[in-house]
Amino acid sequence: MLSDRINQLCESQTIKMAKMGRELTARGIDVINLSFGEPDFHTPEFIKDAAKEALDQNFTYYTPVAGYPELRKAISEKLKRENNLEFGPDQIVVSTGAKQAIANVIMCLINPGDEVIVPTPYWVSYSEVIKLAEGESVFVRGTFEQDFKITAQQLEEAITPKTKMFLFSSPCNPTGSVYSKDELKSFAEVFEKYPHIYIISDEIYEHINFVEKHESIAQFESIKDRVIIINGFSKAYAMTGWRIGYSAANKEISEACDKMQGQITSGTCSITQRAGIAAYNGGLGSVTEMRNEFLKRRDIVYNLLKEIPGLKTNLPQGAFYFFPDVSFYLGKSFEGKQIQTATDLCLYLLEKANVALVTGEAFGDDNCIRISYAASESMLRDAVKRISTALSALN
Ligand code: PMP
Ligand code: GLU
Repeated sequence: MLSDRINQLCESQTIKMAKMGRELTARGIDVINLSFGEPDFHTPEFIKDAAKEALDQNFTYYTPVAGYPELRKAISEKLKRENNLEFGPDQIVVSTGAKQAIANVIMCLINPGDEVIVPTPYWVSYSEVIKLAEGESVFVRGTFEQDFKITAQQLEEAITPKTKMFLFSSPCNPTGSVYSKDELKSFAEVFEKYPHIYIISDEIYEHINFVEKHESIAQFESIKDRVIIINGFSKAYAMTGWRIGYSAANKEISEACDKMQGQITSGTCSITQRAGIAAYNGGLGSVTEMRNEFLKRRDIVYNLLKEIPGLKTNLPQGAFYFFPDVSFYLGKSFEGKQIQTATDLCLYLLEKANVALVTGEAFGDDNCIRISYAASESMLRDAVKRISTALSALN
């Protein structure tokens, strides 16, 4: 009865694991949920105040589909101020989360059979939205040894006449890897040779970056017109439930995204948009505080994970995830039951350690599992202890 489209779509594994964790919690089990990529901080007060005011001022009507003009202006100014990028307000489309912004762009650019190059590990929803658009994902492997990043040479080798798009995140979910300016420049030099390729640059973790200032591939003028920046408020401002993100792109693509969401959502929530204006006009104080807290937690968890025998862990440079290689434990058993895959291992850790994580298979890497460290220090310490005990019970 259901369409082939929905039958072929995989359920989001991040959402599935978070749901399983919540269900166990509801049954009274003490689960530590490190599956969902969601800051555990509250949204800063000044942003909540703006939303309360918006309600009192009756911002309760349909908004322009692409967002209130003041919000698109605030985003345009942010891109200039923080990233030194010129995107006019008419090049911004505000959506129901960065997730929808990505879907809009893919739906507007991909024809059936078009190829999209996606470096692995990648964020879960990329491959599924490409599937919805009837495009083909072409995965290019960034190995543990390469800090999960791909090289310009690997990128160029994957390009065919059918390549329409390159889609990546930096800082990366799930690995926390960050591409340097030089690495992005080497990608830009490849794209200069292939003017038919568009680049989606998912920069939603830009402010959770521990090494250097954020670098966007849109800074390279020779390709800027083909770069679509995706960003949002969920991670930087702890606003996951508000559902607000955006794309910044050339006018043709922006108009297409406006048309697309005019038929699907009519734009995101009016009150959320007023809150978004306050966020972008309110300085980076709270963003920096949260970023510093994430850095502290990263170091704590890194040192704890390093103590677990057989676990291989890179040092993430951004975002709030670890993506350890667990292949040492695959093939081992507990009470006669063999753990064959990273998914088996996640289910075992959920059952035995009561810690919810996400399998690397969902991100295109079968050897890894993802641990979100967007949780309190005491929860993180407890979780790693539980994971370590459960892993040591395998033989
Ligand atoms: N891109 C990446 C890499 C993400 O991790 C997320 C997390 N939700 C999103 C996009 C979507 O964010 P949202 O829809 O909450 O703005
Ligand atoms: N982006 C977050 C994650 O990867 C939130 C869940 C989702 O949107 O998939 O866990």
